[in-house]
Amino acid sequence: MNLRVVAFDIGETLLNDTRYWAGWAHWLQVPAHTVSALVGAVVAQGRDNADALRLIRPDLDIAAANAAREAAGCGEELDESDLYGDVRPALTKLRLAGFRVVVAGNQSAKAGQLLRALDLPADVVATSGEWGTAKPSPSFFTRVIEAAGCPPDQIVHVGDHPHHDLYPARAAGLRTAHLRRGPWGHLWAEHPDVAAQADWRVDSLMDLAYALTPPGFSPEVDRVLRDAGWSQQRWTGYDVWIDYLAPRGFTVTDAAVDFLREFGGLDPVIPAQGTAPAHQPFELDPALCGGHEHRFTQWGRRIGRTLFPIGVVGPNHQCLGIDEHGEIYLVDEHLATYGRVPRAIEALVLERKPRRLDIG
Ligand SMILES: [Mg+2]
Repeated sequence: MNLRVVAFDIGETLLNDTRYWAGWAHWLQVPAHTVSALVGAVVAQGRDNADALRLIRPDLDIAAANAAREAAGCGEELDESDLYGDVRPALTKLRLAGFRVVVAGNQSAKAGQLLRALDLPADVVATSGEWGTAKPSPSFFTRVIEAAGCPPDQIVHVGDHPHHDLYPARAAGLRTAHLRRGPWGHLWAEHPDVAAQADWRVDSLMDLAYALTPPGFSPEVDRVLRDAGWSQQRWTGYDVWIDYLAPRGFTVTDAAVDFLREFGGLDPVIPAQGTAPAHQPFELDPALCGGHEHRFTQWGRRIGRTLFPIGVVGPNHQCLGIDEHGEIYLVDEHLATYGRVPRAIEALVLERKPRRLDIG
């Protein structure tokens, strides 16, 4: 497919807009439901969603009202609680698989600042307020392509709103994913034009991340992993390991969480490898590395990476760790790399030796 960049819309793709519209309802002193229902109504009529506010206050000057809200201390706010739960895991998975991640949508310049403060796993975060052009204008998508830094047909644009996301992105030559999320995502999900113009139609960002990042295991390794209970959509609770290891000085990274969610707890039965003399089973239980904190800290410091435990390998339970880029290491008296997933998992299942790192 040669896809290199995933570009995400913001409102109702990454952000749940409930608090945003509730803020306007509070300011205009009407029930939150009134604003939400009116927003739905005007958008379904093909109008700008700000028209919902003008239906409530026909003389409303939105820019002036925004300034007044800011001055009154009830301006635009945005924090982690406004993100949909799959945003961090999906963006992390895509970046670990080598995708550049662009976040760009119709939002204020302030929303851009607030979003960047969330430190999302993204390479670019920008808004229409900052760019001076908004969707569905073709010039907005020109900016997306510039931010992506590659030809448009190597970019997947993801959004909930067919008229703001899907159709103009397609017209600009991008590949497209329609997300069935939020009012517009649901309203138009089954529209024939959406079906015709979306390369992917998904119910969550993880569905898209899975579709764009096939596991890539050989049939032999795939079978061993599946027999042990793995699937690409495996979603294991990892909190117990974090709760155990974080107080012991380990720094939790997005890459470690992504790995443990999918592979944590696996204890595969490794088939005999011909005449291999010593069996090297592995178990992906990070707690088995407890007591070896110093090794992770010292090796991490020497290679300038943050190493987090993921399990052990071999009869002597040598530790395995993962860095923030998803590279997997043997963390012992020496340091050796297995590379990244899927190559690292292939090597472990097939009992291939990791490459020893010569560190001065
Ligand atoms: Mg949107």
